[in-house]
Amino acid sequence: MNLILLGPPGAGKGTQAQVLADKHGLVQLSTGEMLRAAVKAGSEIGKKAEAVMKSGGLVSDEIVIGIIADRIEQPDCAKGFILDGFPRTLKQADALGALLDSKGKSLDAVIEIKVDDTILVSRIETRARETLAAGGTVRADDNAEALKTRLMAYYRETAPLIGYYYANRTLQSVDGLAPINEVSAQIESVLQGVAKA
Ligand code: AMP
Repeated sequence: MNLILLGPPGAGKGTQAQVLADKHGLVQLSTGEMLRAAVKAGSEIGKKAEAVMKSGGLVSDEIVIGIIADRIEQPDCAKGFILDGFPRTLKQADALGALLDSKGKSLDAVIEIKVDDTILVSRIETRARETLAAGGTVRADDNAEALKTRLMAYYRETAPLIGYYYANRTLQSVDGLAPINEVSAQIESVLQGVAKA
C-alpha cells in the first residue's frame, strides 16, 4: 500500500504516519525528517536546505524530488510507504506520479487530514512546549514567525494538491480535529475501502 498524508503543518501527519507504519509495516517517508537529518549531518543537501527550513519556506523541488526518488528505490519501500510532507507542490506531485509510473507503482490513497486553521498555531506551540519539558530540542521552525511562513507556503503551494488528487480520484478526507485514535480509525476505514475496491 502506497499512501500520501496531506495536510497543513500541525495537522498530525507525522503522528498518523507513525501509527500506520507500526500497524501495517509500511515505511514512513518524511521529507522534513530527512532534511533535518541532512542539516544535522552537515551534508551538501543539508547546507542548501538549512536557512530556508529555518525561515519556514520550502526547500527546492529539485532537492526533495531527488531525495524521494533515491529513497523509494530502496528495497524496504517495496512493501509500501507513507509519504508524510511530500509532495508539497504541484511540481512535486507530477514528479512523484512520473516516478511511480516508471517503476510500475501507484498510489492507493491520498489522505487529507482536515483541520481548522485556528487550531494549528496552538498545536505547534504545544508541541514546542512539550518537547522542551521533555528535555528535547525544539525544531528551529517551531516559532511564531516561521510558522506564519509555513502556513503561507501550505496555502500557496500545497493546498492546490487537494484539488489535484480529488480530480484524479485518489483523495479521501478524514477529520483531523478528532482525537488521535479516532483519526487513526477513520484512516483505517479509508484503507479498508481502498483494499476492497
Ligand atoms: P515538516 O517536517 O514536514 O514540517 O518539514 C519541515 C521543513 O522541511 C518544511 O518547512 C520545509 O522547509 C522542508 N520540507 C519538508 N518537506 C518538503 C517538501 N516536500 N518540499 C519542500 N520543502 C520541504
